Amino acid sequence: MNYALIFKNHDFEYEIQAVAKIFIPGIRFQLCRNFETSDAENQILTEYISEQNLLHVKIFLHGKTYSDTAPAKTEKAEQEFQLCQMLYQGLQNLTGYQPPWGMLTGIRPVRKVLDKLSQGLTPEQTCQELQQKYLISDKKLQLALHTALLQKEILPHSMKEIGLYISIPFCPTRCSYCSFVSHSIESAKSLIPEYIQKLCEEIRILGKLIQKYHLSVQSVYIGGGTPTAVSAEQLKEIMQTIRNHIDIAHTREYTVEAGRADTITEEKLLVIREMNADRISVNPQTLQDSVLQKIGRCHTAQQVTDAFQLARKLGFDNINMDLIAGLPSDTYEGFSDTLRKVIDLNPDSVTVHTLTLKRAGTLYHDMNYQNTEIPVVEKMTELSAALLPESGYQPYYLYRQKNTVGNLENVGYAKTGKENLYNILIMDDRQTILGAGCAASSKIILPDGNLTRVMNYKFPYEYIHRFEELMNKKQLLENELEKLA
Ligand code: SF4
Repeated sequence: MNYALIFKNHDFEYEIQAVAKIFIPGIRFQLCRNFETSDAENQILTEYISEQNLLHVKIFLHGKTYSDTAPAKTEKAEQEFQLCQMLYQGLQNLTGYQPPWGMLTGIRPVRKVLDKLSQGLTPEQTCQELQQKYLISDKKLQLALHTALLQKEILPHSMKEIGLYISIPFCPTRCSYCSFVSHSIESAKSLIPEYIQKLCEEIRILGKLIQKYHLSVQSVYIGGGTPTAVSAEQLKEIMQTIRNHIDIAHTREYTVEAGRADTITEEKLLVIREMNADRISVNPQTLQDSVLQKIGRCHTAQQVTDAFQLARKLGFDNINMDLIAGLPSDTYEGFSDTLRKVIDLNPDSVTVHTLTLKRAGTLYHDMNYQNTEIPVVEKMTELSAALLPESGYQPYYLYRQKNTVGNLENVGYAKTGKENLYNILIMDDRQTILGAGCAASSKIILPDGNLTRVMNYKFPYEYIHRFEELMNKKQLLENELEKLA
């Protein structure tokens, strides 16, 4: 089925598309501007009629029609929001779907709550304002509020406190939903030694900058990919470099996102412990074997349980488990079974993501989500929001991604004291994070609240072969760090 978005006399394309995708996810729309026409079966027209100063929306969707016209407000930003509202109402009218996050398309609902609270609004006033403006459901507002109140207690305040991110972009195989730059170990084998050598060099450079500008590393996060996809010796080399060149004496947490069960061995876990990392992730995504197979993860649910128990036996007392709601072929019953089994394992935190259909994932090309499936995914996230708090896990970070099924959210739940600072910081944009490795970025938060990003190259071969060029960019990083002095 073809879908066209037609824009006439306005440039609100980005926001209009975002609203349309709430109701019609996973679709590549044909985009037509001004006088372009379309023969698509489904058409959504948004228009500014300048002679009469009117906004107009006309929708033909699955054989049904909707039309609305209203006087345009004065300011351009107001007009944009107004047109989005008119489209939202039209699509809601035709589909009967009530999006739980309403019109909110941004990725940081918690930030919106924190901003209102810092303006002096009470939690009740905050919820009321956001509800009126974005039509957010009560359940989601409460989730965002609860998360914001917990974060307020955890967030650090000094400009000199930073996070450190180290990227190991390799995985045993590629999952079908993955849009990350991760490379399978088989295809990247020859690159790994040189990649690690360059990565260690970058860590040493960052170590010097951290020392020079008297920065205090509050959190270290080794992510990927799957950091445990490399050998125990290679992992040790990276972690030893961190230990030798970065002062982690005052670090509040040190995470290795071990990730996939098929890469976790006793030898690697011992390296992680010996190098003083105190938090790991063992990420099942699902504990349904048939779903694991369908998404291209070459391990079983039993391997996840075994890896988790091995880590516990070796003394890890801060283990996170990631789940995904809405995986292909998973059902509400399957998700519920997974969630209950995970709770029985008693990890310290559980992160529940909603499936995201990104173009780079093979899944995007294989399937389209239908509106009929969205309520099931919604029920999965609601089950998590009910069962996890009942079992002692509170929501502590929350973010949304584009193209997420049902426009739903990702939520980190943790037992008290096991909230992951890095996860909060990466979403909050209020603390500097230095990144090393390919696809990592450094984000410097300046005293005036402005933010500068310095991006590393995206792919390992580029990172290796253009390393010198990349290190020249470090001058820009240094210039920004100087402003923190
Ligand atoms: S483990 Fe994660 S990073 Fe690796 S392929 Fe799967 S989704 Fe992508």
